[in-house]
Amino acid sequence: MNTVRDTISAPGRVKEIASLANRQIKDIRALFQKKQRDRQSVFLAEGQKLLIDALDQGWSIRTLVHAKSAAQSAAKIAARTVAAGGDVLIVPEKVLGAITRRDNPQMVVGVLEQRFSPLDAISPGTGDTWVALDRVRDPGNLGTIVRTADAVGAAGIILVGDCVDPFSPETVRATMGSVFSIPIARSNRNAFIEWSKMQNAMFVGTHLSGSVDYRAVDYTKQPVVLLMGNEQQGLDDELTGICDPLVRIPQAGKADSLNLAVSTGVMLYEIRREVLTLPDKEQS
Ligand code: SAM
Repeated sequence: MNTVRDTISAPGRVKEIASLANRQIKDIRALFQKKQRDRQSVFLAEGQKLLIDALDQGWSIRTLVHAKSAAQSAAKIAARTVAAGGDVLIVPEKVLGAITRRDNPQMVVGVLEQRFSPLDAISPGTGDTWVALDRVRDPGNLGTIVRTADAVGAAGIILVGDCVDPFSPETVRATMGSVFSIPIARSNRNAFIEWSKMQNAMFVGTHLSGSVDYRAVDYTKQPVVLLMGNEQQGLDDELTGICDPLVRIPQAGKADSLNLAVSTGVMLYEIRREVLTLPDKEQS
């Protein structure tokens, strides 16, 4: 039985769907798999705050799914979606639970197109800080780094080698909306090394065997590309070879190393120290 019926407000664009067996809902549920996200070059973003961030940053929602009970609160996002040519699907909460795989799902979920910046188009300029991540594997780490890079005003993120998907639902959630404001590029290791040779920037590597205290470097003289290593294996030897300086964050106690996202945060706040000041009136 066909459970889809068009509603009156925007024929062909706004539909009520009750069944999990509906083709469009099945396609959206499949976006939990990377293969399907890549095939369609789209991803899921959950929750009103994230979707408003996306729209405000100039992204458009290809398909908006919202609970019937959230019609009022989702009305503005729905109107902006339809105005930009997207579809709106109104569903029961159980369908949202199945899409988000959560017992207490967000009442609003959007499907958006993935965006990657081409590495060749990136050329760090005066005052810029880029973060290059070598084979980052943990979605929580990547999301936290994207959020932190946004907070410090970094120029963007370059994913080097086999990295976790920046558009997985876990990563997108962990960015708290910053995935919509920070450019993300990806590259294999060799292409990144070739690219590095053409840049007038300081390539700062972080390593447990780094001989330079991270606070002893003047990061203001050139644009900075900060290289952070894989969670298990650290920074790859060839990538380490293009870095000067190779810095270390001092540690006391018994921990082998800092967590990747924490150490990236420590580095970014030091690199961006000169530009990160509270407004005068708040400092008195
Ligand atoms: N077992 C790995 C190793 O031997 O390098 C530990 C990797 S650590 C969890 C992940 C990344 O965080 C490192 O590659 C480096 O980029 C950064 N990191 C963690 N602690 C650091 C420290 N004390 N100094 C500099 N970088 C650090």
